Amino acid sequence: MLEARELLGPAVGTKEQNRRKLIIEIMIKADQQSILARRLGISGASVSTAVAELVKKGIVEVEHRQKGDPVRLATTRGVALGIDLGFRRMAVIARPVDGAFETIQSAIEIEGANRGFTQLLPRLMGLIRTVVDGTGQEMGDVVSAGLAVPRMIDPRSGRFTTPVLPPWSETDDPAASLEKLLGVRVAVDNDANLGAMAEQTYGLEKPLETVVYIKASTGVGAGIMIGDKLVRGERGMAGEIGHLTVDRDGLVCLCGGRGCLDTLVGAEALISQVRQAGRRDYRLPNDLRALIDAAQKGDAACRRIVTDAGRMLGFALAQLCNLVNPRLVVIGGELAAARELVVDPCRQELQRYALGGAVADDGRFELRTSQLNALAEAHGALILGLRAHQQENPGEGASGGVVSN
Ligand SMILES: [Zn+2]
Repeated sequence: MLEARELLGPAVGTKEQNRRKLIIEIMIKADQQSILARRLGISGASVSTAVAELVKKGIVEVEHRQKGDPVRLATTRGVALGIDLGFRRMAVIARPVDGAFETIQSAIEIEGANRGFTQLLPRLMGLIRTVVDGTGQEMGDVVSAGLAVPRMIDPRSGRFTTPVLPPWSETDDPAASLEKLLGVRVAVDNDANLGAMAEQTYGLEKPLETVVYIKASTGVGAGIMIGDKLVRGERGMAGEIGHLTVDRDGLVCLCGGRGCLDTLVGAEALISQVRQAGRRDYRLPNDLRALIDAAQKGDAACRRIVTDAGRMLGFALAQLCNLVNPRLVVIGGELAAARELVVDPCRQELQRYALGGAVADDGRFELRTSQLNALAEAHGALILGLRAHQQENPGEGASGGVVSN
C-alpha cells in the first residue's frame, strides 16, 4: 500500500514539486482534470501529462479511464486532520487521504477557547484520537493538520495579528502547541477564511471566481475569495466585517471601536437583548443555539432578535457586496442554524442597500446558508493542513504559516 508520508515527502526539482502539488489537490478532493488544473492555476495539458505519469506509477486512478472523470488517489495509508477551535465550541474532523468526502469522521464539543487553551488541550487531543480511531487508522498515520481560529492570523508568520483579542494573547501559539503533540506540521488561519475555502471546494460542484463566506457566531467574520484566491490582506485583517462600523453612536466593541457589527449581531449582543427584553415567564435562552431554537418555535421576542440580526447582517453585507461583487455569499456559523429566519431579512436589506446589479436575482448572485453546516471551518482547516505540504520549505518560519491559496 502507498504511504501518504512518502508521497508528501521532500520533492526535488520543479517537476517533482508540481507532481506533489497535484497529488495534494487530489487528496483534498478527487476532481476532474480541468478543475484540478484550475485549483492549481496551471494548464489542463500539464495536468493531463502529470496524471498520465501518476496513473502509470499506480499513485492515482482515473475512473473508467475517460477524460472528464474524476482523478482519485490509489489506496494510500494516511490521515488528514482539520481542527476548528472556536470560542465556545470545537470541532475536529479526520479523513483518510484516499477517502471521499463522505468518509469524514467528526466530533464536536461545546467547550472552546473561552476555557483557556492550555486547559483545553487534553480534551482537544481526546477528540482528535476519537476521530482518527474512527478512520480505522492510527495517530501515527496522521500526515497533516490545519487549525481554524476566530482571530486574525498574519499570513507571513502564522501567528496572531495584533491586537489579539481575548481570550487569546500575543504569546499564545496554538499551532505550535499542537504541532508538538501531533508530531506533524500544523497550519493555522482565520476560521472565516477557511470556511470560504471549504465552501469553494466542497460546497460547490465547480469553484466560482468570487465567493464570500460569513461566519456568524460569537463574533462575525468574512472569508473573501477573489479569482479563486483567498484575500488575506497584508496582515491577515481582510474580511474583518465584525469590526465594520455600522452605528457611529453604538456600543464600544472589544476591539476598541464603537458600533462595530459584532456589538449588534455577535452572540453576546443577541443574548443580552433577550435579557433586556426582561422576560420572566420562562427560562431565558443563555446561548445562541437556545435563542435560535426559541425563535424557530415562535417565541416573539427571540424571533425579533434573530430577524433583526439578519437585517443588520444584510446591511453590512451590502457594503461588502458593493466592494467585491461576489457571485455567492454563504452564511455559516451558529447563526446560520436559523436558516430563513436570518437569510430572508438579510436578503431584503441587501436588496435595499447594495447596488442592484450586485445582488440581482438573475442567476449571477446567490445568498444561502452553508451546506457544510457546523463543520465548514474544520473542512477548510483540513484543506489548509494538506496544502501546507505544497510549500517548498515547510521547516521555515513559525509554525504553520499560511499557504498561497
Ligand atoms: Zn470591533
